[in-house]
Amino acid sequence: MKSVSHIQRNPHGHWVGDGFPVRSIFSYDDNPRAFSPFLLLDFGGPTTFDPTTKRRGVGAHPHRGFETVTIVYDGEVSHRDSTGAGGTIGPGDVQWMTAASGIVHEEFHSEAFGRSGGPFQMVQLWVNLPARDKMAPPGYQGITAAQTPTVDLPDGAGTARLIAGSLLDAQGPARTFTPMQVWDVQIKAGHTVTLPAPEGHTVTLPAPEGHTTVPLVLKGRVKTQDGAEATDAEMIVYERAGEGVTLTAVTDTTLLWLAGEPIDEPVVGYGPFVMNSEAEIHQAFSDFQSGRMGRL
Ligand code: MN
Repeated sequence: MKSVSHIQRNPHGHWVGDGFPVRSIFSYDDNPRAFSPFLLLDFGGPTTFDPTTKRRGVGAHPHRGFETVTIVYDGEVSHRDSTGAGGTIGPGDVQWMTAASGIVHEEFHSEAFGRSGGPFQMVQLWVNLPARDKMAPPGYQGITAAQTPTVDLPDGAGTARLIAGSLLDAQGPARTFTPMQVWDVQIKAGHTVTLPAPEGHTVTLPAPEGHTTVPLVLKGRVKTQDGAEATDAEMIVYERAGEGVTLTAVTDTTLLWLAGEPIDEPVVGYGPFVMNSEAEIHQAFSDFQSGRMGRL
């Protein structure tokens, strides 16, 4: 069994553009490799927006060297990018955008959600790419809720909705560059589940390779086998050693299960670009400014 390293939280929120009130649970700015292959996790909401005719969100901006994964729980997000891809996603839908060699995109509340207002909740996760794929062509996977299989956990304990990675006989639809699990897990109050967390997928702080079994509680309260508890917007960070974790739901709990194989390479990030060296960051700025990442 894996042991808990610590519970990670960030009570301080900030706005991304004027559409996304988020708490950055972790970021490559503070600790570039601690959560590899994950670089950043912004927990957006839950909050309620009043109706408006204004476009709320963040306008055209670039990315290079990684993927942005947007999971919507409430509300609607519209995306448009320089490859010509785009779309609107609602509750349960996922945008898995591979920036790789470079993309320019915008992210806004959908027009319909803007007009209606209402509850809004989302997660944006940044997933690193290995050096060999950082300059691959950009891509976009629009994944609807209907495409994600839901697996019943043993003994009626709850469900796991698979976005990436496999559990039992089911496979999440997202294509990834390195092995990872991204699942929405629901555990009923009083039930205990054991989830696979393959040995070697996390490391002990402060080892620089980083932790990578890091479930984030969206709502509810769980207790780990160590007796640690985590509630809304708190992430359980496990140590690398050991295999498998056991979680008991104190109340009905929804969590985002995140685990993955660390990418053991240097991480040099600056704003929207995450590469392996300073020189590659300078090149990214230059390529963006000269239009080589495309335009909207
Ligand atoms: Mn973006």
